[in-house]
Amino acid sequence: MTLESAVTNNNSPDHEVIIIGAGVCGIYMLHRMLKLGLDVTLLEAGDGPGGTWHWNRYPGARFDSESYTYGYSFSKELLQEWSWSEHFAAQPETLSYLKYVINKFDLASHMQFDSQVKAATFDEESGYWRIDTAEGRTLTSRYLLTAIGMLSAATKPRLEGLDSFEGVSFHTYNWPETPVELKGKKVAVIGTGATGVQVIQSIAGEVGELTVFQRRPNWCAPLHNSPISDEEQTKIKASFDDIFARCMKTPGGFIHGPDRREFATVSEEDRMEFWENLYASPGFGVWLGNFRDVLTNLDANAEFSEFIANKIRGRVQDPAVAEMLIPKDHGFGSRRVPMETRYYEAYNRDNVQLVNVSETPIEKITKKGIKTSDAEYEFDIIIYATGFDAITGAFDRINITGLNGQTLRSKWDKGPLTLYGLQVAGFPNLITLAGPQGASVSTNFPPGIENAVDWTTDLIKYMGEHNYKRVEASDEAEQAWVKHVKEMYGHTLVSTTKSWFTGYNSNVEGHDILRHMVYFGGAPKYRERIAQIAANDYEGFEFA
Ligand code: NAP
Repeated sequence: MTLESAVTNNNSPDHEVIIIGAGVCGIYMLHRMLKLGLDVTLLEAGDGPGGTWHWNRYPGARFDSESYTYGYSFSKELLQEWSWSEHFAAQPETLSYLKYVINKFDLASHMQFDSQVKAATFDEESGYWRIDTAEGRTLTSRYLLTAIGMLSAATKPRLEGLDSFEGVSFHTYNWPETPVELKGKKVAVIGTGATGVQVIQSIAGEVGELTVFQRRPNWCAPLHNSPISDEEQTKIKASFDDIFARCMKTPGGFIHGPDRREFATVSEEDRMEFWENLYASPGFGVWLGNFRDVLTNLDANAEFSEFIANKIRGRVQDPAVAEMLIPKDHGFGSRRVPMETRYYEAYNRDNVQLVNVSETPIEKITKKGIKTSDAEYEFDIIIYATGFDAITGAFDRINITGLNGQTLRSKWDKGPLTLYGLQVAGFPNLITLAGPQGASVSTNFPPGIENAVDWTTDLIKYMGEHNYKRVEASDEAEQAWVKHVKEMYGHTLVSTTKSWFTGYNSNVEGHDILRHMVYFGGAPKYRERIAQIAANDYEGFEFA
């Protein structure tokens, strides 16, 4: 069906709002749109809801946010009804939680599964978006809200022979739903980011032999997960107001905020005691609750990196393996810190081997396994924990076309350009929830998206009240925001190394330049800014 035939029937779109994605963000967005009384439908590529928590079924998958800060905060009733079983809940529990939310707020009937959006085109004449799905359907809407995930475009290495392997192989994001028999098997894991670390520590004791192919090590720190006791549960449920108030104050939206002291103002003895306490505490405190200059000052960062290096040396029996596991090319916290549970101890097992593919690169995947520059390995299973075409990858995989035939892919060719990570000049009525350069992608995700969803709801309400049909970011406002986003990179050590924060991915053509993907100004400043913009009649946005 063409757009013309779709809209000339009754001159109105199929839906006022189309949301893409039934993950944490899409679920809440759908709830808010329904509450506003709008005609809305949600399209989801998967055969069920959950987004990240639907796909990432690999052993050990869990979040590093305290469970009670990962749940939605918008419903006090929901907060009291749901009881997390662990301080850092695993994937099956989070998926159950999201299904519970869908049920509670009656959202399922507005969701269409197995509906992968492959193209979205703005039609200037009608002012509607035309959405084409992979199965050949066409729908139209006034607003298009993308909740397509920041880590949902999985990338495998670009290696010769990838499809020639005769054993079982998959990316962690596509871990099969039917249980994978690991017992006694010869297994390879490629990649040691947050995902690889969780997989490795979880399967090391189960498989026959495990060979880890590591290109660059990461600085990992203990998660210290534990069950939530009844007593703790009662306390948590009585203190949600305080918990969320605290999260609202920290740059990352977690309960952990930086220690206001500068590293050099604290005596060595007190510093060591502080760091030992951080290392022994649950969650991201070791990264985000550290002295405020540990992530901005090279000297402070080097001292703390050495503290962590010594922890690794103390936990890994073979000194040569320990040294391989200690990053030498970047300081602690300048890439996302994987939180671990006896990860380093996995390398003390006789059945686990570490291969440094920076020194001996993988040359190809063979029928039987993996060939590096100095050896050939045979495997039953190859697990690619090789990460994502982060944040913009999910957009690039949809052919999104705005005004004058411009595609989003071409506009973002050298890196994303957005206004507050929420809109893009030249793409009217497209709201890029959890898009690049917003705060949700660099912070505790649920509070971040709640803010973006609430803001978007207010915007759509405002447009209804003023009888506006179209909203678009202005070029000038977009340029000013991108400039600010770039400046913020200069205030952290993140820009000193390659990671998905800086948009590098060796498995994606052209992703070998710095891309300013996330906003590092912190969630409180971001929230304040977009609230101020809304109060100023959405300054920087043009309405028609
Ligand atoms: P990632 O951090 O990008 O790590 C990918 C790993 O694969 C890196 O070790 C990378 O090496 C390696 N790699 C990629 N291509 C390779 C190749 N061609 N040859 C050899 N090695 C290759 O991806 P991820 O581990 O999936 O994590 C992504 C993000 O997801 C995390 O940072 C986190 O935000 C989120 N996550 C969260 C949790 C949690 O909450 N606990 C768990 C998992 C993931 P290089 O470092 O050399 O590039």
